[in-house]
Amino acid sequence: MADILYTYKNEVYVNLTNKCDCSCTFCIRSHKDAVGDADTLWHRKDPSLAEVEQAMNRFDFEGYEELVYCGYGEPTCALDNLIASAKYAKEKYGIKVRVNTNGLGSLYWNRDIVPELKEAVDIVSISLNAPDEKKYMEVTRPQFDNAFRGMLDFAEECRNAGLKVCFTVVDVLPEEEIEASRRLADSMRIGFRVRHFA
Ligand code: SF4
Repeated sequence: MADILYTYKNEVYVNLTNKCDCSCTFCIRSHKDAVGDADTLWHRKDPSLAEVEQAMNRFDFEGYEELVYCGYGEPTCALDNLIASAKYAKEKYGIKVRVNTNGLGSLYWNRDIVPELKEAVDIVSISLNAPDEKKYMEVTRPQFDNAFRGMLDFAEECRNAGLKVCFTVVDVLPEEEIEASRRLADSMRIGFRVRHFA
C-alpha cells in the first residue's frame, strides 16, 4: 500500500490521491516513485477517509506546525476526503493545514469550491508555473482550455475569502519569467514564492 502520510525536509505531507487534471512537463511522478521517507506514493486505490484518519492517528505530529496536502496527485480531485480529513487533523491535532494545488479545483468540480476549503484549510499554495497563458498551457497541459483564467479566478476567490494564499513557481524558470510571475502575483495582491525544483 502506498504511503498516505510521509515526511520530507521536516514537513509532513498527505498523499491523498493519484488523480490529476494536469500533465505537467516537469511532474516528479514521471521519473520517481516516491519522495522523502515514502516507499511509494502510487496508490493501488486512493485511500478512504477512514484510511487517511488511521494514518494520521499512527503519526506523531510533535514538532510539526503544518500538515501539507500534496503528494502524487492533485488534492482537490479528492475534495470530500481533503475537507473531512483536514477538519479531522485540525480538530484532533490542532495543526495548521496547507494545500498545495494546481488551482483548478473549481473548474474540475464545476462549482466554486473555495467556501468548502475555507472551512478546513488555512493556507493555499497555488502552482502558477508561468506568467502568461501560453506558457502556462505549454507547461501544465491541463484538461481545461480556460485553465489559466480559472486558476487566477480561484486564487482571487481564495484571497477574497480571507485564506492565506500564495503563488509558486520553480527556480528553473528563466529569471525574466520569475520576475513576470512575481509582478502578476503583486498585481493580484497574492503572495509569491519561488520553490526549489527537485
Ligand atoms: S499538477 Fe502536480 S501532480 Fe498534477 S501533473 Fe502537475 S505537477 Fe504533477
